[in-house]
Amino acid sequence: MPTPPIRNPDVKYTQAFINNEYVNCVSGKTFPTINPTTKQKIADVQAGDKADVDKAVEAAKAAFKIGSEWRRMDASKRGVLLMKLADLIERDISYIASLETTDNGKPYIKACGDVQISIAIIRYYAGWADKISGKTIPINGDYFCYTRHEPVGICGQIVPWNYPFTLLFFKAAAALACGCVCVVKPAEQTPLTTLYAGSLIKEAGFPPGVVNIIPGDGPTAGVAITHHPDINKVSFTGSTEVGQLIMQASGMSNLKRTSLELGGKSPNIVFGDFDLDAAVAWSHAAVMENMGQICVAGTRTFVHESIYDEFVTKSAAMARNRIVGDPFDETTQNGPQIDDVQFEKILELIESGKKEGAKVECGGEKIGDKGYYIQPTVFSNVQDNMRIAKEEIFGPVQQILKFSDEDEVIERANNTHYGLGAAVFTNDINRALKFASGLQAGTVWVNCNLIMSPQAPFGGFKMSGMGRELGEYGLEEYLEVKNVVIKIPQKNS
Ligand code: NAD
Repeated sequence: MPTPPIRNPDVKYTQAFINNEYVNCVSGKTFPTINPTTKQKIADVQAGDKADVDKAVEAAKAAFKIGSEWRRMDASKRGVLLMKLADLIERDISYIASLETTDNGKPYIKACGDVQISIAIIRYYAGWADKISGKTIPINGDYFCYTRHEPVGICGQIVPWNYPFTLLFFKAAAALACGCVCVVKPAEQTPLTTLYAGSLIKEAGFPPGVVNIIPGDGPTAGVAITHHPDINKVSFTGSTEVGQLIMQASGMSNLKRTSLELGGKSPNIVFGDFDLDAAVAWSHAAVMENMGQICVAGTRTFVHESIYDEFVTKSAAMARNRIVGDPFDETTQNGPQIDDVQFEKILELIESGKKEGAKVECGGEKIGDKGYYIQPTVFSNVQDNMRIAKEEIFGPVQQILKFSDEDEVIERANNTHYGLGAAVFTNDINRALKFASGLQAGTVWVNCNLIMSPQAPFGGFKMSGMGRELGEYGLEEYLEVKNVVIKIPQKNS
């Protein structure tokens, strides 16, 4: 256990955060945020809407005005502020992780890991702040030509509930390093840690209006962001359906730049030449971590026929032994699902798997009535055309499919609209390289899964999204390239 948790942490902030101040929303309406472990209300949170997004955009606009403190600030100072923010988050890690566990239900140890990832991302992008530079370009004629990599401007950032604090900084850390300003909307299920982050952003010394946070629903606050004529860019993580709405909104409003990180149905392919126990453990974690609420979860486990039966038996045993319970307990591996909507959706998909003829090797039911708990579930005899093999379940449900041939499994793995992640387990280097190039996914893992790091890009092919977050590539989403051409008396080589 990194630092002891705080059970029932105080909820310090439930209001919108605009201009470095916590304020009530214009309508005065609130919504409850629920503890998924108990189904009890934690707090009433201000419900932001268009009027509040408008206020946040006005604050962001002022902060981004030419000549403002933020625009005049040395790039290196932006890095210093980000470093300070990371230190403040580290100071408060047990409080933030406890609040995340209460609001989201994820095991406290995992919540601490999420906060540590946020810290690493912020420090990584802090280092970039004064290393973002353009080029001088030798164009034809007597001209001096150079490019400026300018901040794109006001960034709407719409965050989901599965990794609330981490995904906030996937977006905000890169944007701030580039000199942008932000209007953030946390998911309605998990607003609390993002709202707390507002106080740390102020304490770190970011000027008023640089980061604004509007809690609220997707169809109200979210839509107000995506349709706003003065927001220059939206980055979104969530469902593919909403991703499509966001692109439409961009087209119908001001063609705001859009980056999307959406759903997945990632293949996880296991060959018989790899250590069986290790493959079982990696494949189990790839779909059971975070209660299966991972966009890049390896949910289609393709196993070679030579080891299929043994793999299924071992995977079912591992799922049966997974410890589900109180997320504040040190030994707990799975807490509850996020809410009733997700809970019902997962159970319905499990029933569809049973009806369509897949075999439940273990699990397949809810646990008790106190929280949104579902048994870790393993299906064997899964066929490609079953709903559980095609739809994103976003729950602790593993589908194990059989294959016999390399080319066949590449084709089946790619036979989906999604393309977020893919994994292959084999000791054959030639085969590994063939899969690394043949699989259509933003990330291909060889002999591992779900490994992510601030330095490496993350994003999707096909309907899993567009654009990349993290790494140097992640900066591009927050920059406009401006070309400047100056007439000069005489150019020399
Ligand atoms: P969602 O896409 O509806 O919500 C994600 C975020 O988008 C939330 O902040 C929400 O308020 C906001 N939003 C919703 N509708 C919006 C709109 N019209 N305009 C602007 N913003 C809007 O996801 P969900 O309903 O919470 O979950 C549904 C499914 O999405 C899940 O079952 C899962 O398959 C997928 N999902 C994926 C991720 C991911 O990491 N890619 C995260 C959460 C959910």
